[in-house]
Amino acid sequence: MTHLNVAIEHRRDPAPQERNTETDNANVASTGEDHALSAERNSRPVNFKATLCCPRCRSSLDLDRDTIVCTSTECVYAHKGFPRAAGQPVLVDFERSIFDRASYSDGRGSVMRRDDTGKGVAVRFRRLLTGTNPVAPGKSREMVEHLTAEKSASTVLVIGGGAIGAGADALYAAPNVRIIGTDVYASPNTQVVADGHFLPFRDEMFDAVWIQAVLEHVLDPPAVVEEIYRVLKPGGLVYADTPFIQQVHEQAYDFTRFTLSGHRWLFRRFEEIDSGPVGGAGKALVWSIRYIALSLGLSTRMATLAALPFFWVRFADHFAKPGPKADAASGVYFFGRRSERTLNAKDMLHYYKMKR
Ligand SMILES: [Zn+2]
Repeated sequence: MTHLNVAIEHRRDPAPQERNTETDNANVASTGEDHALSAERNSRPVNFKATLCCPRCRSSLDLDRDTIVCTSTECVYAHKGFPRAAGQPVLVDFERSIFDRASYSDGRGSVMRRDDTGKGVAVRFRRLLTGTNPVAPGKSREMVEHLTAEKSASTVLVIGGGAIGAGADALYAAPNVRIIGTDVYASPNTQVVADGHFLPFRDEMFDAVWIQAVLEHVLDPPAVVEEIYRVLKPGGLVYADTPFIQQVHEQAYDFTRFTLSGHRWLFRRFEEIDSGPVGGAGKALVWSIRYIALSLGLSTRMATLAALPFFWVRFADHFAKPGPKADAASGVYFFGRRSERTLNAKDMLHYYKMKR
């Protein structure tokens, strides 16, 4: 896959949304001998040997060499191995992934230009236009509260964490929460490069999963949510926000949108704590105005400028009624827990009414 060096929408930006203590989880305790690729916000290293597995066959990995290999002699990755990008293991099953091994042959493996900081001028302007995520800041605080109430230290997997998601700051700031960041490219906020369809983690490793503005970018969202279920401990928390009324962004890597009900059904094996819209028709309209400009041939930057006079339209969302707001939401979110009970089809009728 060639690198598309073009300025495009950043995953976390204009998200729908707009996107560590000693642990009692021995699986991620540091041994000092493992490949500790700590990001700046994760001062304690991760015991990769105990945590990681082959994304294809889930066997153990031999991490003690430049090319990481699967320890199962029957696995194709016992021979082909996994590369590293910016020093981080790239544990992607290339046989099944949309991402190609060649993408990781140099640099950090991003097929697009990235702004990990979210502080670039283009990002700031788009945030002024479409606003920040009105939901995620509260949910990240809530997640920390739940985790803190339940145990002294927790480990949270962030899928799509190359750039810190809009509103996720409380999670990253919590002293008793260790973040394991993954994305399809290496960044200072990740420790492992992974494809959400085949997570390279053993079962029931995590106390929570945070996945923001990612599920529209995966080919098979139910498969990714199954993986989230698998790597979560029983009762583990998940927060997901995903676009509904938003135009295509991230070019070829944009596949799906969800209504509030469709998103709830996606997480049907999870018990709901809360769910709802992320921005309403106003925010969606501001997005659309910018895409009118893009459709007329304006550059991404000029389209943002052209739409800026209409930024105020999104304030209508503050006064929107819950049902109609959800019906025209810019994005939707789900906050819940891994459960033993699966929603029934008929539960969905009740769910829709409950959210009016
Ligand atoms: Zn394997």
